[in-house]
Amino acid sequence: MAKPNRETDLLIIGNGVAGIRAAAAARREDPALRILIVSGESCPAYAAGALPDYLAGHIPREEIFIRRAEDYEKDGVGVLFGEEVLEIRHGEKKAVTEKHVIAYDRLIYAAGSFPILPRRIEGIGLPGNRVMKTVADVDGLLAQKASSAVVVGSGAIGLEGALALKESGCERVTLVELMDRVIPKSLDRDTAALVAAEVEKRGIRVLTGESVNAVKGEGKVAFAETNHEKIPCDLVLWAVGVRPRVELAADAGVALGETGGILVDDCMATNLPDFYAAGDCTESTDRLTQKPVLNLLWEAAARQGETAGLAAAGRRKPFPGSLAVLLTYVGETPVLAFGATEDDLEGRRYRVAERSAGGGYTRLLLRRNRLVGAQMVGTLEFAGPLLALMEKGAALPAAAGDIGDIRRNIVIPHQLSSYLREFRPPGRKRKETL
Ligand SMILES: Cc1cc2nc3c(=O)[nH]c(=O)nc-3n(C[C@H](O)[C@H](O)[C@H](O)COP(=O)(O)OP(=O)(O)OC[C@H]3O[C@@H](n4cnc5c(N)ncnc54)[C@H](O)[C@@H]3O)c2cc1C
Repeated sequence: MAKPNRETDLLIIGNGVAGIRAAAAARREDPALRILIVSGESCPAYAAGALPDYLAGHIPREEIFIRRAEDYEKDGVGVLFGEEVLEIRHGEKKAVTEKHVIAYDRLIYAAGSFPILPRRIEGIGLPGNRVMKTVADVDGLLAQKASSAVVVGSGAIGLEGALALKESGCERVTLVELMDRVIPKSLDRDTAALVAAEVEKRGIRVLTGESVNAVKGEGKVAFAETNHEKIPCDLVLWAVGVRPRVELAADAGVALGETGGILVDDCMATNLPDFYAAGDCTESTDRLTQKPVLNLLWEAAARQGETAGLAAAGRRKPFPGSLAVLLTYVGETPVLAFGATEDDLEGRRYRVAERSAGGGYTRLLLRRNRLVGAQMVGTLEFAGPLLALMEKGAALPAAAGDIGDIRRNIVIPHQLSSYLREFRPPGRKRKETL
């Protein structure tokens, strides 16, 4: 191998929120540490959660960035933009990019995730098939100025993408979902029906129980073929999920967990000495179920980054595990869900408590008098305390029969009103009261 032409104490692969939080924490802990971030993207770090707002035209491009190029130098952190690490030789403590061989002492791998593109679909290679993961993706979507779009997948990213495309001026937007309802992993049918109605009110056609099986056109996308129809479109936005980007680490000998994410301990150490991992590329433990999960959310990535940075600088501050909380907006209407859905509870005894009031809908799932799942549309009232209640696994008084009783029986420490704020990445336009 060529001689190193860069040297650092701490090398961080990835400039997403996990990477930059790791750098900041390590710098705070050890002012003398030499830190170098290598970033495959050529721009400073940004809030991916704000990309739909940028696409919709709610915020200008510059507002999505959470770092300016000059901030890195100010913070005493070196950075190589637009350079991918191609190989990690951890035995020799060297990482290789196209231009550099970097010698390091400790490594934090924060490579994030890939959007899934179903490679076997006919026509997937045609121009006009797109994803929404990076700023460059949204720049491309805006530059295309599509007049008719099919969005595949109705998770939070698909839903937000469809709404943003419509607001950006795309005349016809169709949202196609394979399952029988929108946001199927997090919502029950009744809740999902309310959300779909909100989406349709904004001029978007919602097709559930259908899949896009082929994309066709002469040299570019002209229509998407589902099991029932051909939908004319010049853009197909694929939002069928993301998966952890683990290949480089796995090739270097890092162990993966059962979910396919990198296996880490509570201080983000992998099975290799001096090799840490943080963010979307890792597997974490769900605080509600204690099961291994791929969390793939902003706050978990940020906290894991912080933990990894501290650990690499010599201080233990364990990551408490992640909470899978879906919080998205249809226009100004919030949609929130956490915990189990009815599908998850199939075959078990459970109770549903519902409340519709003041334009908001709350649905709680209870099992053995304990809250095991919550869904809300058009309201976020009591969301924080409910989440805290569920995390504690506290039993409700036997008399608690409906939502009114449940709410009256919750003891709400004051600080819990801010409990859920963490689930909103910075840069988002709307402010919520929880
Ligand atoms: C459109 C969208 C909306 C979202 N909305 C929300 C939301 O509302 N709430 C929420 O909690 N979460 C949301 N998320 C998810 C959240 O943004 C992510 O969980 C978080 O950004 C993950 O951060 P990360 O640092 O782990 O990874 P990433 O942000 O993926 O960053 C990883 C970086 O590593 C770089 N990299 C990878 N491999 C290499 C290599 N070999 N060499 C050099 N660089 C490399 C990549 O180019 C990338 O820049 C959203 C995501 C998207 C895409």
